[in-house]
Amino acid sequence: MKKNQSLQARVVWGDRVVTVGGGAPVRLQSMTNTDTTDVIGTAIQVKELAQAGSEMVRITVNTPEAAQAVPAIREQLDRMNIDVPLVGDFHFNGHRLLTDYPECAQALSKYRINPGNIGKGDKRDRQFAMLIEAAMRWDKAIRIGVNWGSLDQELLGTMMDENRQRATPWDAKQVMYEALIASAVGSAQLAEQLGMPAHQIILSCKVSGVQDLVAVYRELARRANYPLHLGLTEAGMGTKGTVASSVALGILLQEGIGDTIRVSLTPAPGEARTQEVVVASEILQALGLRHFVPSVTACPGCGRTTSTTFQELAQQIDEFLRKSMPDWRTRFPGVENMKVAVMGCIVNGPGESKHADIGISLPGTGEAPAAPVYIDGEKRMTLRGASIATEFQTVVENYIQQRFGAKN
Ligand code: SF4
Repeated sequence: MKKNQSLQARVVWGDRVVTVGGGAPVRLQSMTNTDTTDVIGTAIQVKELAQAGSEMVRITVNTPEAAQAVPAIREQLDRMNIDVPLVGDFHFNGHRLLTDYPECAQALSKYRINPGNIGKGDKRDRQFAMLIEAAMRWDKAIRIGVNWGSLDQELLGTMMDENRQRATPWDAKQVMYEALIASAVGSAQLAEQLGMPAHQIILSCKVSGVQDLVAVYRELARRANYPLHLGLTEAGMGTKGTVASSVALGILLQEGIGDTIRVSLTPAPGEARTQEVVVASEILQALGLRHFVPSVTACPGCGRTTSTTFQELAQQIDEFLRKSMPDWRTRFPGVENMKVAVMGCIVNGPGESKHADIGISLPGTGEAPAAPVYIDGEKRMTLRGASIATEFQTVVENYIQQRFGAKN
């Protein structure tokens, strides 16, 4: 099932235009976890996320000091030639910050606003209008980002009351789903009534359960034609967060639902923030929707690989490819589609290596200490000795240079 094509939003910084929805490739975004008032620290993390493949980076804008730091972060990024658009994350006081700090409003390329915490009663409509006026004044896209951790409690209460009047009341979860969707769609319609162009409105309804996310987004996609930002909120740490995000986003993306994604991983202490970009890019690559970095096919190893040589080589090649991508992206267009195989023994090694653009079949236990290398499906050489890893890396580099380098 493919979702009908949505409208297309444009998120712009300088010459860089990131289109979202309307048939554009599914976009990858991420968020910093630095203190935004730390201009240099935030700019460095934005750079790392952008170089890892993030096409938009969101930063927290929560105080006057953070709002004042935003233009300086933007300038620092421009000085470093990092043209990734910045998205401001606003809660509670966004209406004030975007009004009082016009340079902040201008330096951002998109505003994320949360209808659940814009204010209550009369104030809510007035403050929402101030956010929309800022977006229109500076010609910025917005994301109306509903989250079940901060759902509009007035709306939920009203919908719960209405549900009690039904002849057959829905279960509480169903009402919650409906409230999430109503909050997002209703806020988008209100923004349009205030003059916001429909195509510049992106919606999200984030929840932290896989089945809940699938149910909510299927319904949201059925009812709204705005581009959708997709993500499992508070996905958690490590393997759990990675698997839950992959399953949830995989199901929806396969159905054509989702125009931009973020993987909300909790980093382990000391873990790079870029891990969320790595996971998001692997989800899109695994589905064949996007290619960000050459893929490494490696077998799991078994009793035929009693040494760690092939694990080390697979890891080394993977790290080498990822580290090289920021430079290769411009020098070797198309290299992101390349497939490399690093295999542990003769059982599947030669076959899998022939399916890859370039592959190596390492000797398993008891095999002769020789590693045949396959290029474009043909056996081209055999590596031997202690420096197989270094030599194979050179072979990969030469292959990339010849195949993807500028042809004079
Ligand atoms: S290719 Fe060889 S080492 Fe790798 S899993 Fe298969 S049998 Fe085991």
